[in-house]
Amino acid sequence: MTDKVLITQKIYDGAVCLLDEAGLPHHYNDSDETLAPEALRALVAEATALVCLLPNRIDTAVLDAAPHLKIIANVAVGYDNIDVTAATERGIVVTNTPDVLTETTADLAFALLLAIARRVVEADAYMRAGQYTRFELFPEMLGVDVYGKTLGIVGLGRIGTAVARRGALGFGMKVIYTANNRKEAAEETLGAQRVTFPELLAESDFISINVPLTPQTRHLFTLAEFRQMKPSAFIINTARGPIIKEADLVAALAQGLIRGAALDVFEEEPLMHPGLAQFRDRLIVTPHIGSASVETRQNMSLLAVRNVLAVLSGERPLTPVNRVQ
Ligand code: NAP
Repeated sequence: MTDKVLITQKIYDGAVCLLDEAGLPHHYNDSDETLAPEALRALVAEATALVCLLPNRIDTAVLDAAPHLKIIANVAVGYDNIDVTAATERGIVVTNTPDVLTETTADLAFALLLAIARRVVEADAYMRAGQYTRFELFPEMLGVDVYGKTLGIVGLGRIGTAVARRGALGFGMKVIYTANNRKEAAEETLGAQRVTFPELLAESDFISINVPLTPQTRHLFTLAEFRQMKPSAFIINTARGPIIKEADLVAALAQGLIRGAALDVFEEEPLMHPGLAQFRDRLIVTPHIGSASVETRQNMSLLAVRNVLAVLSGERPLTPVNRVQ
């Protein structure tokens, strides 16, 4: 069967050009609206490679409809939208886009951290509404310092380490962390200290969530965890929405269990819990833009397509997430 690539949603056109240069036929849904599940199942029947994005759920229904598929190239580092076990059983390679988005996503995490601490979004709205009429030493909009505070990283991996570096080296923060394994390099260069999860909850002034979404991290943060945090603490989530039980975050903010939250990801995207909207000064929300810089989205697209080119030419994928015989 001749190779054919299916691309479910608009990616960087320069990456699609690589397929043209390689003479690979493709079906490119050059649209910001991704393929509906039925359309995806119909089109994937002819495909040997699939380039997909987070809104695409690549479950057994899709895999059963794809008898010729050799590779699923996700344009993201997270791959919780793909049933990797089922793909592996079918001999299908799954790839992601690590590293190219690390610094960009850490930039957003830190932008959110600074913005929620110093009330930047609220201050912008205040100014635009013409409410700045006189300078006050103690305005209503007092923020808190970031410099010298304790930054707790849940998941000191690629992005978590990049966030920790910004905190430790840029803002003199004490870094504490959790991870599956000890991170000696970060301990040496950033002074990061590995702690238990309860210790991290109790000691952090700012918590940055940087774990992948897995069965173990789904609802890692519920009311019970918010109760263990300082009432003055902030939580920043640039990982995946379901790591926080959103209804419990609403309750935690309402009860004053924590000071504030900054979220780039949500439990039921593209929606956010309706209860969150009431918190104007203690919540910042962004629409899943962690990796959304021009350069990084281009690099993610290129890496996904290069994975496709490698696998279809019988070579090893550049960034596999599974091992296929
Ligand atoms: P990574 O390098 O794999 O880092 C994840 C870290 O989490 C690892 O250090 C891992 O520890 C740790 N970990 C895993 N399960 C854990 C658990 N149950 N408890 C504590 N630590 C745990 O991944 P990454 O490249 O930094 O990306 C992290 C996540 O960010 C992605 O999975 C994705 O969902 C999200 N993301 C979001 C955006 C956005 O647009 N908002 C952009 C990029 C990425 P070990 O290393 O010891 O195994």
